[in-house]
Amino acid sequence: MYFGCHLSASGGYAAMVETAISIGANTFAYFTRNPRGSKAKKEDPADAEKAVKLLEDNGFGKLVAHGAYTMNLCTADPEARAFAAEVLEDDLRRMAAVPGNFYNFHPGSHVGQGVDTGISYISEALKKALRHGYPVTVLLETMAGKGSEIGGQFRELKAILDAVGSDSLGVCLDTCHVYDGGYDIVNNLDGVLAEFDRVIGLDRLYALHLNDSKNPFASHKDRHECLGQGSLGLETFRRIVNHPALKDKPMILETPNELPGYQKEIALLRSLES
Ligand code: FE
Ligand code: FE
Ligand code: ZN
Repeated sequence: MYFGCHLSASGGYAAMVETAISIGANTFAYFTRNPRGSKAKKEDPADAEKAVKLLEDNGFGKLVAHGAYTMNLCTADPEARAFAAEVLEDDLRRMAAVPGNFYNFHPGSHVGQGVDTGISYISEALKKALRHGYPVTVLLETMAGKGSEIGGQFRELKAILDAVGSDSLGVCLDTCHVYDGGYDIVNNLDGVLAEFDRVIGLDRLYALHLNDSKNPFASHKDRHECLGQGSLGLETFRRIVNHPALKDKPMILETPNELPGYQKEIALLRSLES
């Protein structure tokens, strides 16, 4: 199984791989640029090359880079929307330095323009960014449905996948988000995965974010908790890591931890495997 966590990108790619190895991870996530701004780091091809070799030599699964939270592809202001689309395109171009990995992002918030309008803006931006054919698979994240967030319903993600019509587009399932969003993976994991399969298709599910939730079922809140300390509970994660439909997919922790906490949670996940 491929388990990892969110790592700081401040030291570059190779440093992230080394940190991941030191905490028992064999995949990881990182922000492609400042998560709350839009500034990206200077590119360093030698560092990326070193990382690619380290990843290969150490049997890593695919990485799951994360787009900035501020990148809202369906914001109402046309200028801000165009800028977000540019950021997406530039992020995908940058991902070519570490080819063959995943780029996950929050679809966006329609801020009152309506779900359909939001979906069409998001799809437009994706089509444009994907036309270059960079070696990256883009993943739409399942959201908690907070405010006007798009992606709280599987059918919204499916509408984007259909509108874009690219094999380089899939989904990343966040356990906290789907539970907060009203999909009961605690009492009916099989049923939720069956619904995912019916609406989207499990062949489009490429990665997972493993987070417990600070809030109760269907709260639409999106506050992550450490594994086993929230409303999902450890048994839910035991079922997830052992579920045949989820085998071999990178599973990324975004729990409120520093490195030692992540190291413990990765060991915990490995102990849950049967
Ligand atoms: Fe996310
Ligand atoms: Fe997430
Ligand atoms: Zn979240």
